[in-house]
Amino acid sequence: MYVYADNAATTRVSDAAVSAMLPCLQEFYGNPSSLHTPGQQAKELLEQARATVAECLGAKPEEIYFNAGGSEADNQAMLTAAALGEKQGKKHIITTAFEHHAVLHTAKKLEKQGFEVTYLPVHEDGVVRLEDLEAALRPDTCLVTVMLVNNEIGTIQPVAEIAKLCRERGVLCHTDAVQAVGHIPVNVQELGVDLLSLSGHKFHAPKGVGALYCRKGVRLQNLIEGGAQERGKRGGTENIPGIAAMAAALREATEHLDENARKVTALRERLIEGLSRIPHSVLNGHRTLRCPGTVNFCFEGIEGESLLLWLDAKGIAASSGSACTSGSLDPSHVLLALGLPHEIAHGSLRLSLCADNTDADVDHILQVVPEVVDYLRNISPVWEALEKGEQPHRI
Ligand SMILES: *Cc1c(COP(=O)(O)O)cnc(C)c1O
Repeated sequence: MYVYADNAATTRVSDAAVSAMLPCLQEFYGNPSSLHTPGQQAKELLEQARATVAECLGAKPEEIYFNAGGSEADNQAMLTAAALGEKQGKKHIITTAFEHHAVLHTAKKLEKQGFEVTYLPVHEDGVVRLEDLEAALRPDTCLVTVMLVNNEIGTIQPVAEIAKLCRERGVLCHTDAVQAVGHIPVNVQELGVDLLSLSGHKFHAPKGVGALYCRKGVRLQNLIEGGAQERGKRGGTENIPGIAAMAAALREATEHLDENARKVTALRERLIEGLSRIPHSVLNGHRTLRCPGTVNFCFEGIEGESLLLWLDAKGIAASSGSACTSGSLDPSHVLLALGLPHEIAHGSLRLSLCADNTDADVDHILQVVPEVVDYLRNISPVWEALEKGEQPHRI
């Protein structure tokens, strides 16, 4: 048995998405910018997909800009708000300490260009406080960007309230909704944001396709110069197969949102209950204010990377939740933002479920994780020191 429990990293492409994609690859392969019939057929598919995505988000079709995914959307949203701000002499940006790196690294880049960035704390429960935002807002703030659902711990942020405050202060509001779209209700009217990022591969569409919602009236800056695609805001021949697949996946996710959320939440609750029984473990992030599928635990005396390798060997795909990309062993910036000590943050495990997961998957996880944690603790000198009382337990 092999259980895939890393849906926050990426998802399996659904049958609906594949079915929508195939005809675009081999039948309707025209270039939507071409005037001939095959081109116009492709254009028609593109605009149908745009209408679908807009409808699922409560947006207007002309407010949806297709692109290559969440990272691009985050970059474009932030650089747009920064450019508009700069014109008005406003060079202050507010974000949080636990955003995705697509946001954090763009913030760093803007800091180098003379912008000042305030990183809001996210408190122990992984939730931003409005009071902190209120205190951070300044007359020269041009952008507030706060993610809707955190990708490592799954907590949901009060984005509607944040956007309301931004509107009152005349500040643009962006949200990285990559982990939210297709999993919890996301309606741009109800959220009241100006800009919103989403990515297909987080809700069962292929990788490399996403979209940016940009409220009408906000002048989007283009990152990629080229043709007049996407109303001149994103050059490059449109990825029609990916876009059609994403629209189909989003429609399917939206139609089954409540049912899937109920099912996945029930599985998640079993995971939380079972894993909480492991001694010296802690669930990271608010107990209930979280998206259906994601849980993140820390186990004291455990090194996250070894845990993952053992889990893989025992048939579980999970993640440490940290951006351990270049072999760096730094603990996750998200867990550090919650105030966890380095040695605890090192022992993290993220399990992210989707509606394809079953009770049998959860049984398998609940059987294997405690065994592996136990095994790793028994061979760990750190654990030995903790057990002998030479070092105090932190959790
Ligand atoms: C995955 C992810 C991204 C990046 O999306 P890509 O399509 O992979 O570029 C951005 N933000 C969050 C919260 C994510 O989970």
